[in-house]
Amino acid sequence: MRIKKGDTVKVLSGNDKGKTGEVLEVIPKTEKIIVKGVNIRKKHVKPRKQGEEGGIISVEVAIHSSKVNVVCPKCNKATRIGFKENKDNKKVRVCKKCNTELK
Ligand SMILES: [Zn+2]
Repeated sequence: MRIKKGDTVKVLSGNDKGKTGEVLEVIPKTEKIIVKGVNIRKKHVKPRKQGEEGGIISVEVAIHSSKVNVVCPKCNKATRIGFKENKDNKKVRVCKKCNTELK
């Protein structure tokens, strides 16, 4: 996965096109991510106990990771992510626009 928890991403398509948000969760198995404030669905909650009120809560639903680009913290642009090896021979993510290493 090119996207990690805590990244800021920009949505490229769908209802939330153009929105940016923080990645709250990454699901590598399905290559989906949950982004704060993106793909909100209203969910009805039933009261569990007597006297408790039910209601509607908003939850973020996972979207496919191919629908977003990571926003580079350095150049502040939505960018594609590349990989390179750093001096410790570790594979790191880099911004394809400004070549900065991303955490
Ligand atoms: Zn950059």
